[in-house]
This record gives sequence, C-alpha cells and structure tokens, in this order.
Amino acid sequence: METYFGDSAEISNDKSIHTNVVIIGAGPAGAASSIFLTKAGINHVIIEKATFPRDKICGDACSGKTVFVLRKANPAWVDDIFKNTDENISSHGVIFASPRGKKLTIPFNPEKTTSGQAPGFVTPRLVFDNYLFEKLASPFATIYQQSSIKSIERQAGKSVQVQFNQGATSYNLTARIIIGADGDKSYVRKALLNNNTSSKAYCVGLRAYYKGVTGLHEQNYIELHFLPELLPGYFWVFPLANGLTNVGVGMMSDKIKKKKVNLREEMLRAIKYNPNISSRFTNAALVGKIQGCGLPMFMKRQPLSGGNFLLTGDAASLIDPFTGEGIGNALFSGMLAASAVIESLKAGKYDAAFFKEKYDDVLFKRIGDELKMSLLLQKLSNYPWLFNFVVQKAHKSSTLNSALTSMFTDLDLRKQLRKPSFYAKILFNR
Ligand SMILES: Cc1cc2nc3c(=O)[nH]c(=O)nc-3n(C[C@H](O)[C@H](O)[C@H](O)COP(=O)(O)OP(=O)(O)OC[C@H]3O[C@@H](n4cnc5c(N)ncnc54)[C@H](O)[C@@H]3O)c2cc1C
Repeated sequence: METYFGDSAEISNDKSIHTNVVIIGAGPAGAASSIFLTKAGINHVIIEKATFPRDKICGDACSGKTVFVLRKANPAWVDDIFKNTDENISSHGVIFASPRGKKLTIPFNPEKTTSGQAPGFVTPRLVFDNYLFEKLASPFATIYQQSSIKSIERQAGKSVQVQFNQGATSYNLTARIIIGADGDKSYVRKALLNNNTSSKAYCVGLRAYYKGVTGLHEQNYIELHFLPELLPGYFWVFPLANGLTNVGVGMMSDKIKKKKVNLREEMLRAIKYNPNISSRFTNAALVGKIQGCGLPMFMKRQPLSGGNFLLTGDAASLIDPFTGEGIGNALFSGMLAASAVIESLKAGKYDAAFFKEKYDDVLFKRIGDELKMSLLLQKLSNYPWLFNFVVQKAHKSSTLNSALTSMFTDLDLRKQLRKPSFYAKILFNR
C-alpha cells in the first residue's frame, strides 16, 4: 500500500480496501477527524455501525468548545446552526442549584462572544450529528454505514487490518492508522488498548424530552440541579427549540451500586416532589421514552494512543467529570487526532512514542488543566455542606458571585478552589 495523499481509498474486486486512515464511528469525534483529514487532502475510510440520521442519548447541550472547533472547520457552519432556530436554541449561561436549592447564575464567557451569537447552543443530537455527518461527503472520505466490525488486528509500527461486514458483504481493510471514535463501548479501545473504562470513571445518565416545562431562563441558561440524593451527579433541565426541554439525571455508577439507587425512580421523584422542581412540571408531558446510556468520564490521564492507533471522544473517556460535557472534547480530540495523523503520514512514523508526543501530550496540554479542575469540582460537590455554603455565600456577596463567575471561564482563578484560604476568606466575608 503506497497511497498517502491519494484521492480515495483503493477498493479491489475481492473487497480488500487499502487506505491511509480508518475511522471507526461517525459521531462528533469521528466527524471531526474526517473533516480535518479531508481539509488536508488525506484519503480515509469511515466505518459506522448505524445509519444516519441516528439518535444519541445526550443532554444535547453544546458549549464554546464545540463552537470553537466548528468555527475552525468552517465558520459558515456555526452561522447555519445559530440561524436554524426551528431546531436549535442559543444558550447564554448555566444555572447551578446547590443541594439546598439555592441557585448560582453564571453567564458563559460573555467577552468571547462574537457579534450577536451566543457562546453555546442546545440541539437535538439527531439533528446535530446528522448535520455534521452530511459534511463528511468528500472525494477523500469513503463511508460505510450499517457496518459491523468482525476483527481488528495490528502489526505494530506497520499497519492495521480491520475485517467488517456491510449487509452480506465482507471487507478486509488495511490502513496505516486507525482512529477509535466509536463511543463509550469502544471496540477499538478494547482491541488495541486492552482496557475498558473502570466503574469509578463511569457515569450513567437518563434522558427524556418533555414539553410544557415552565420557569426556564429567558436567555436559555442550562440548569444543573445538584440534588443531595444524586451527588456528585445532578438533575438537569436544558431548554430546546419548539417548547421542548431535555430533562435528565446522571450519577456515578459506583455510587448507584453502593447506595442501591434506582435512577429512573429518582428522576421521576424529583419531577413530582422536589420543592424546587415539581411546580415547573405541573403541566408538562413526557414526549417519547426515558432512555439511558453510559458516560465515560475523565478520571486520570491514561494512554490514548499506541502504535498505529489513536482514541478520541468517549472512546478516550474525555467527558468532563463535573459538567458531563463530552461533545466539545469529542470534536476537539478528533481535530487534534487528525493533525497528529497528518504529521505521522508526512514523517512515515506510526509508533507509540510518536503518537504519544503528537497526540496525547498535545491534547493534555490543551485540556488537561480544565479536566483536572473539573475533577476537583466533582470532589467538592461530594460535600453537600461545602457546596451549600459556597453557593449561599455567593448569593449574599456580589464580589464572590463575580469571582465564581470568572472561575468558570478562567482556569487560574479556578485553581483557588484548591486552597483552604479561599474558603477561609468566604467564611470571614473578605
Ligand atoms: C445521558 C447523557 C447526557 C449527556 N449530555 C451531554 C451534554 O448535554 N453535553 C455534552 O457535551 N455531552 C453530553 N453527553 C456526552 C456526549 O453524549 C458524548 O461525550 C459524545 O456523544 C461523544 O461523542 P463521540 O463521537 O465520542 O461518541 P458518540 O457520539 O457515541 O459516537 C460514536 C459513534 O460510533 C458508532 N459506533 C459505535 N460502535 C461502533 C462500532 N463497533 N463500529 C462502528 N461504529 C460504531 C456509533 O453508532 C456512533 O455513531 C451526555 C451523555 C449521556 C449518556
């Protein structure tokens, strides 16, 4: 196989395929990898289990990082998303409700907003993922949907072989590099890293669509309610277009097991009886079913690549452990994986040390601090009294309120949360 920067993958009559790169999964992580490989004119194959449009159980909230990557890909796409107000809704901030129900209202990074556009948006994944998927069509990308992987084998430093079926047809694919973008139950991760996400790093989420929920913020702030029975997880209410609301709960799976929690019952209990929530659902109706899915959270730095392979998005466990946000990191890691692959093909290097330097190290340099800070916030939310106390004080002190607001946008300020002196200052109202 010699094609590095060819027009398309080479497919012969016996159904063997030769390509530079194979991407497994066409969600946000795989889509970002493909988009940036296409920009560089690198042929690649995408193998996807489902057929688009396909849904993904999610809270549907997209932050500034999603906007950042999309803008890098093509600024017109961001405009398209914000203009499509029939399906997407702009969001300007987040409301954190403490275990006692006190609310902290925090605008998203307002100074970074470009003219008139909100920093974030909420979009049904059925719509958003399909929008990105439609952007993948290019002479450099060959897409196989509704395909199932039969085996992945690697000759380290040389190539990767993937056997897959699409309907009754079996294919044997050979690539220099494989990008695992196949979500939380990643086949690529299991096959090449021999590693499943541990239960300590795993969160379980339930999501439902409701119509008729009242009391939403006028600028569509997303709401995270840290209910005592779900800590360090939360109950969420995210506004959507067309009077719909994405409502859900998320909780760490080891806590679910330990406390023997029935998550569905907790979610319905909060909707029916929680004094800060139930009145808003008096005339609300469930649309469709309550559905669940796993969230592989970032817990500590682990290898995300090796000889001839890279993992991205949920396959790399990159979900923010405090906010549960994974779409932005999926897109961001997909983008960085593509640039590591471009360098690798140019240099003719496919070994583990090369990808560690060009991918893992670059990714953690960019988002490592942020993920570590979120871990710290997750730990803080494990202590309801401390959480209640900080939110209570922030209510009374406009200085503290604006300091906390900045913390969500300024990593140096967030570091103060680690220092006992920060809490002492709050205590003495300094
Ligand atoms: C309940 C819940 C709520 C969430 N809320 C939010 C939120 O509000 N905001 C946010 O930013 N994040 C949220 N997340 C996280 C977010 O959904 C994920 O982080 C994000 O989808 C990761 O993107 P991805 O491309 O890595 O994986 P996915 O979106 O899961 O895409 C993986 C793709 O790979 C395909 N695939 C899987 N296995 C194979 C295979 N063997 N062969 C071929 N293809 C395969 C799948 O069909 C899919 O298309 C939430 C998650 C859950 C579960």
